[in-house]
Amino acid sequence: MKLEREEILSAIYHCVKCKLCSISSFHPTEEWLPLCPSGRFYGYQAFYAPGRLEIFREILEGELSEPTEGLLNAVYACTLCGACYEKCKQITSVEIRLPELFEELRGVLVNKGWFLDTHRKIAEKIKETRNAYGEKDKYKYEYEAKSLYGTDVLYYIGCTARYRVPEIADSMLQIFDKLGIKYQVMEDEWCCGSVLLRTGQVEDAKVLMEHNIEEIKRSGAKTVVFTCPGCLKTFEKDYPDMAVELVHSTQLLTRLGNMKVKRLGMEVAYHDPCHLGRDLGIYEEPRAVLKEVADVKAMKREREQAWCCGSGGGVKSAYGEFALWSAGERIKEAKGAGVEAIVSACPFCKRNLREAAENEGMKVYDVVELVNRSLEG
Ligand code: SF4
Ligand code: SF4
Repeated sequence: MKLEREEILSAIYHCVKCKLCSISSFHPTEEWLPLCPSGRFYGYQAFYAPGRLEIFREILEGELSEPTEGLLNAVYACTLCGACYEKCKQITSVEIRLPELFEELRGVLVNKGWFLDTHRKIAEKIKETRNAYGEKDKYKYEYEAKSLYGTDVLYYIGCTARYRVPEIADSMLQIFDKLGIKYQVMEDEWCCGSVLLRTGQVEDAKVLMEHNIEEIKRSGAKTVVFTCPGCLKTFEKDYPDMAVELVHSTQLLTRLGNMKVKRLGMEVAYHDPCHLGRDLGIYEEPRAVLKEVADVKAMKREREQAWCCGSGGGVKSAYGEFALWSAGERIKEAKGAGVEAIVSACPFCKRNLREAAENEGMKVYDVVELVNRSLEG
């Protein structure tokens, strides 16, 4: 465990079970919108943040000793979106680090051998292929990536942009070329380990981290660029300091300033990815970049109170129906804002939102796709 038992119990006892962390706004006349996707979808107390804390307490104090299906579902059907943490902090001024505690809880369960088969299978796929999807081929995107080591900027692509949403990797690579930025990709990129760390399989992640650290050192890069906030968060918070700069694509693009983009004449809504916004505090840069190319309209739940797309924390693989429902709720919200497209800055968000938007008349993009499209040349 990263946290001490007493530290965990103290945090748990600071929760007064008010459940206010499950509501996004307390407007006196308008409807109160939900904030916790798992609680809203499943409806039981155990699926809200205070319920999960109570389960953790009961496990630590020896009151729960059987891995029932209900218990496993309550623990693992949480996207670790962090909305509860932000809301609780805002209301109580006490920092109960909820997603961190829920990850600890999963680690405790895994140590007891109480995990989901789906998550175990992902770990096996990673062991075999070094990517979370068990893909045997090296890359799935079209654009020819340069793996010549020696340039300052390295693009860490990540499993989802490589194998499930390759248009994001393609767009980023084309942006580098269009802007004349010399870049490299890793000769042998392995999964960052995020899915293992989020599902409590901490030991299995270590070998991946060691490999990626060595490869990045070998590359000589000074800046590592990510289009995946999940990978970026993992490198920032879980990897030891590598003395290299870690930046999200939207941070890099903001820094470049005048990119000579042409406006696309679109009205869009920006969806904050949980790992980018709540975990890393990056709210402004994606909006600033997007405003350069499109008209950005607000949705009702944004920034710290953004509604999660539903795919994080191992939920997409294990609880597909819940994940898709959560994304569908976001698509409805974007429709309510009267836009033609919802734009995120995360391959995982794009994948899930796109699936939910099928037949809904709502387009789904990543910020880098629109920037690439709007760059002259
Ligand atoms: S986590 Fe915070 S807001 Fe949520 S029930 Fe506990 S004290 Fe209330
Ligand atoms: S992390 Fe997200 S899904 Fe999990 S309890 Fe908190 S608000 Fe609900």
